[in-house]
Amino acid sequence: MKLTFPYMGSTIIYQKLLQLLDHEVIMPPRPTQRTINLGVKYSPEFACFPYKVLLGSYIESLELGADTIITSGGHGPCRAGLYSEIHLKTLRNLGYHVDMIVFDDIYHYPKLFLERLRMIKNHKSFLQLIRAIYTSYQLAHAIDSLQKFMEIKQAYELEQGAFAKAFEIMRQKFAKAANTVKDVQCLQREGEMLFSSIPVHEPPESQKVRIGIVGEIYVVIESSINTGIAALLNKLGCEVTRSLYVSEWVDHALPRFIKKSDTAIIKNSKKYMEMGIGGHEIHNIGHMIHYKEQGFDGIVHLMPFACLPELITQSLIPKISIDLDMPILTLAIDEQSGAANTLTRLEAFVDLVRNHKLQKAG
Ligand code: SF4
Repeated sequence: MKLTFPYMGSTIIYQKLLQLLDHEVIMPPRPTQRTINLGVKYSPEFACFPYKVLLGSYIESLELGADTIITSGGHGPCRAGLYSEIHLKTLRNLGYHVDMIVFDDIYHYPKLFLERLRMIKNHKSFLQLIRAIYTSYQLAHAIDSLQKFMEIKQAYELEQGAFAKAFEIMRQKFAKAANTVKDVQCLQREGEMLFSSIPVHEPPESQKVRIGIVGEIYVVIESSINTGIAALLNKLGCEVTRSLYVSEWVDHALPRFIKKSDTAIIKNSKKYMEMGIGGHEIHNIGHMIHYKEQGFDGIVHLMPFACLPELITQSLIPKISIDLDMPILTLAIDEQSGAANTLTRLEAFVDLVRNHKLQKAG
């Protein structure tokens, strides 16, 4: 099997897991306009935007020689649960000889989940499989912790691009040398030291601007699709925190007795939304309230084209914004999105946030 997977966030996490299990891995290329064009060409117009990007990304991986795609499934009203079936049919109709290994929710389909694990464990023992999963899990947390640090401090870097350069150095080191949990821990410490050595100039607390990013998982995590929104906000001098990182998405899928509780976030959202409608809308609303409690100054809400759950969130935002006394900007992301357009809207939004903060300070 020549395995590939969806391009989402730091892909070395998935690459590492499969390499530790001795698989041949075909790395999906970072999505570009070509990826999007391919996805749009072979998708129904009304499909949600992440569906189209993933289809384009799969085609590019198959062109590179992959024959099996590992992906996640889903259940409930959101269309993510149908992705794998429709992607597979479309790819086969296009003439690709491809298979898919779909990991569905462990609670709903425990037997199926174990069966899929058996399929990817290769010739390794279950103990080796668990070790490989745990190493990749720690790797996800290590990379995300550096990324979180970067998306705050990058707002104040003295030499433009210094954090991005350091992050790339560490990304390559993780890809090459993070083969055990101990390696991951050593590299994380090295990364923290490297990041702390980057010169920054921080303004007084009262002048800092903190922006929270919420929205649909794919557009929040994947910077090639959201026009690198965290970095754009950093360039405008704002600290950024996102509601979702790859490691937290993995945490959501863990068995209840292990995973970190998110009850407070979910409870926060009850005032606006009684029940989930399939995406991350409950967490998004909960995070907006949480950001207000944490003293953030503004929120950017990312909504892919044709995403029903985030369309519902968007309809609630005017009320939430008034209740929280907080500027909230919704950006719809689709194949027409471009960095220049996003930057113009962000510049206006950041001006608004700064003025709002000044007014409140009296
Ligand atoms: S959350 Fe929205 S964009 Fe994501 S799969 Fe569901 S409908 Fe599509």
